[in-house]
Parts: sequence; structure tokens; C-alpha cells
Amino acid sequence: MISTLLSLALALATPAQGRRPAPPDSLRVPILVYHNIQPEADARGIRAPDLTMRPEAFAAQMQYLKDHKIPVVSFGALVDALEGKATLPPRAVVITFDDGRENQYRNALPLLKRLGFTATFFPFTHAMDRNPRYFTWAQFKEMQQEGMTIGSHTELHVRVDKMKDAQQMHVEVAGSRDRLREKLGDEATAYFSYPFGALAPAGDSAVRAAGYRAARAYTGGPWNSIRDRWRLKAVPMTENMHRFVQVVDPDAAITVRAATHKTQKSTTKAPTPRKADRR
Ligand SMILES: [Zn+2]
Repeated sequence: MISTLLSLALALATPAQGRRPAPPDSLRVPILVYHNIQPEADARGIRAPDLTMRPEAFAAQMQYLKDHKIPVVSFGALVDALEGKATLPPRAVVITFDDGRENQYRNALPLLKRLGFTATFFPFTHAMDRNPRYFTWAQFKEMQQEGMTIGSHTELHVRVDKMKDAQQMHVEVAGSRDRLREKLGDEATAYFSYPFGALAPAGDSAVRAAGYRAARAYTGGPWNSIRDRWRLKAVPMTENMHRFVQVVDPDAAITVRAATHKTQKSTTKAPTPRKADRR
């Protein structure tokens, strides 16, 4: 109880709480969501700014975290903190990747390792070892040994709000858990992320019944409390560097904006956002 109160007090005292008052017992620990990290030439047909990012833009965001000493913590550390079992350093963020695309292995993992960052990867299990554009189980095994977390994103990448019956829900939610356990052990059965960010009460129930520890939505912002355990809010990332700084370092974003306003010119070094990022 005392430690819970202490962690709450520390959380509320964190300068990175930003402009909004903290909701009671919530923590501001943004869960960043990435999809494809790939050169523009490889992003054929993937136009949505939250689904594809150039490696150099991703590197700029990771380097920002490093340069500004923003702590990257694991998904499990955030859930521990929400449960009141642990405290997190101020300004902590969680990094996640959806879909299990091989370009994450090629274009994100080496940088994460070099910077000493941990991340959580949510593959949909059917694609592994079948399609060369996705991870192999061996790659995931290797990543686990390097401190990365693997979780479930269903079996076939299906929306939980469109599942036609309980059997399909079971296959997607519990079946993918079984597959992860078989291939990667129990440690890969703790966390779940909803394909397309689609949410439904039946999805929450299935995830809880399957024994996952927590689940991640796709949007909603940087604040979570333990009441959000089955649909933790998150922030889909784009190449927009100004938006990135607002999410991971809101106090710095305010400072930059004030300076910008004063001098009437930008002081940020953000890469020029592509047209599609402006939304
Ligand atoms: Zn997905």
C-alpha cells in the first residue's frame, strides 16, 4: 500500500506530466507503436504515415530518446508500475512494433541494440516461417535472448470486433498464445495487441480468459491506469518529429514552441515531414 502511494506520488511529481493534470492513479508513459521501418522504395502500396517510416526517420527518433536521456522501459515494467509493484523513472516510454515484419529486424533491431533499448514485438503468428516478408521464429528466439519481448497480435491478423463466433475468437486469441508458447516459451504469452486497434468487450474477455497479463490498443494517448489493462492506450508513430517530441518530451516541446514563437523561426531540426504526415 505504501509503495503504491509512493509510486503514485512520484508519478504525480514527474515534470514530464505535461500540460494536462494527471488523471488520478494514471501514469504518463507513452507506448509508442511502429509498423514498417523501410526505405520509401520498399513501401509499395503502404501509404499511411503511421504504417511506414523511413529508417533514417526512425533513427532520428531513437537518437532523440538517447540524446535527451529519455528512459526506454519494457512493456512488463509499465504493467508492474500500473499494478503499483514498481516505479518508473520520469519520462519513461515503451517501444512496440506490430505485425512481425522482417524489415523491423533488418532496419530497427540493430539500432535498438546499439542504443541499448528494449522493445516489444507483436507478430500475428500465422505468418512466421511462411512468408519471407515476416520474421522467422529463430529470429524471435534470438531477440528474446537479447532482451526483447514478444507478444501476440492474433493468429491471422483479425479484428476482434468482427469475429463471427466464439470458436474463431478462441483460435485467434488463445491459439496464437499456444503457438507462441510452443515456439518461444511462456515469456511470449504475457502481452497482446489488437490488430487494427479494434476493440470489443468480447475481445477483452477473451484476452483475459486466455491468461495474458495485459493488452495494448492502438490509439488513445500517453496516459494509462490499471483500469486500462485490457486495452492500454498507445500512440501510433509517424515521421513527424515535432509530434514525436510532443509525445515523448512534452516539456521540451513547450520550450521549443515558445522559442519558435519568440524568434518567429523554427528552432527544431525535424526532418521535413512528408505531405501525408500532416494529419
Ligand atoms: Zn497489425
